[in-house]
Amino acid sequence: MSSRLVLLGPPGAGKGTQAARLAERLGVPAVSTGDIFRSNIKNGTELGKRVQDITASGALVPDELTNELVRDRLAQADAVEGFLLDGYPRNVAQVAALDEMLAVAGRELDLAIELTVDPQVVVDRLTRRAEIEGRADDTEDVIRHRLDVYAEQTAPISQVYAARGLLAQVDGLGDVDDVTARLLAALSGARS
Ligand code: AMP
Repeated sequence: MSSRLVLLGPPGAGKGTQAARLAERLGVPAVSTGDIFRSNIKNGTELGKRVQDITASGALVPDELTNELVRDRLAQADAVEGFLLDGYPRNVAQVAALDEMLAVAGRELDLAIELTVDPQVVVDRLTRRAEIEGRADDTEDVIRHRLDVYAEQTAPISQVYAARGLLAQVDGLGDVDDVTARLLAALSGARS
């Protein structure tokens, strides 16, 4: 069964953790634009140099660059039968870019799943993650900026997918295993 999925939710909702678990269960690659940017920065690539300051500030990397990256990634053999996107699309223009990528390949998105969490919980989680992982964009000011960017640019995406009947919302609070179980239930509910 093909699975072309998007995982939505604010920074700190647990998207990365859940995307990895879900992708493994479904046998599709988890594609995280944030992870791709971070690994390029770590390895000092040209792309990494271009996006380093932008990601550190909590702003979005320009759409042309991000869309191209996702286009290339989704064209790889392991993503032909399905994928789980984490952190993309991030604004309405990226939704349109993804639509076009899929249309060109004669494919359609199966579902967008939104992990919902209380905003205060998100701030607490991100502050804790900053202490554990030391991510450059997990400082207090940048966290606030990332949440603003999310509210302004990313949150509206949910309505776009909801209008197409493609949105499932899942409570992202609680035990990691419970959240994974809820996500899988939402997925099978959408397919039945
Ligand atoms: P994330 O790990 O998804 O929170 O992403 C970390 C940072 O990478 C974001 O704050 C952005 O600067 C950048 N980024 C990740 N995904 C995207 C995207 N789809 N569009 C633009 N910038 C992105």
